[in-house]
Amino acid sequence: MSSPDGRFAPSPTGTLHLGNLRTALLAWLFARSQDARFLVRMEDLDTGRVRERFYDEQLHDLAMLGLDWDGPVVRQSDRLERYAGAVEALAAQGAIYECWCTRAEIREAASAPHGPLPEGFYPGTCLRLTAAERAARRAGGRPPALRVRADAASVTFTDRVVGEVTGLVDDFVVRRNDGAYAYNLAVVVDDAAQGIGEVVRGADLLDSTPRQLWLGARLGLPAPAHAHVPLMLGDDGARLAKRHGAVTLADRAALGETPQDVLGTLAASVGLAEPGERVSAAELVERFSPARLTTLAEAAR
Ligand SMILES: [Zn+2]
Repeated sequence: MSSPDGRFAPSPTGTLHLGNLRTALLAWLFARSQDARFLVRMEDLDTGRVRERFYDEQLHDLAMLGLDWDGPVVRQSDRLERYAGAVEALAAQGAIYECWCTRAEIREAASAPHGPLPEGFYPGTCLRLTAAERAARRAGGRPPALRVRADAASVTFTDRVVGEVTGLVDDFVVRRNDGAYAYNLAVVVDDAAQGIGEVVRGADLLDSTPRQLWLGARLGLPAPAHAHVPLMLGDDGARLAKRHGAVTLADRAALGETPQDVLGTLAASVGLAEPGERVSAAELVERFSPARLTTLAEAAR
């Protein structure tokens, strides 16, 4: 069995809200309850949305809850050479092709009948270009995105919370046409490089997991285990967001709540504490076991 080292990988594009913090808490509990390492990685490839102040602010908020991490915090923006190497390795296997489609073209093509491809799949327009058409697009000056050629592969895995999941893999983008490496590529390369054995993250990322497992296999990387934990919801049943009001540690402090109060609220929301109970992160490690996540998933159904 691989080591259960875990991680939390936020994007420094805003203040962490309670939903992000609960996912971080669960990932931390998962690792610490198994005496495993817990790493933090900043997913900062979307440079248009990243703001320098959020790196420190997010780490500060984790520390305020009593969550600690091992080793230096890795920034994806420092690791572009690794992602370039992965794209080269895929290209050497013939698993990469250039795509010049605009968003509008993809929308239009995806809505036309294209055989057995599920809705939302890239229909492979640029895979079927003739040599002359490809040459014309290259000469056109608009830089291409790079997509993998996945041939609608099917991937099945067993998630520790959700159970068995099967998904098809589309020809997803690994490098955008502005040169930025895509999330799916960077995650796979980094989780392997950092020795992550168990990826604990929000259920909103479940759909991207078949792609990532497929990509890891193509790159010859070990596959981590996965646990997709339920997202925190607002009073209206929708995914927790800024519009729900006091959703950050700073918002809560303004209402007179300490970080420990917030930790108690997060713990109570996953059945690890009684409502209003004061608990420390260390006490939660004693109470937590990975099997609890299954209970959590059942509660979320
Ligand atoms: Zn295309």
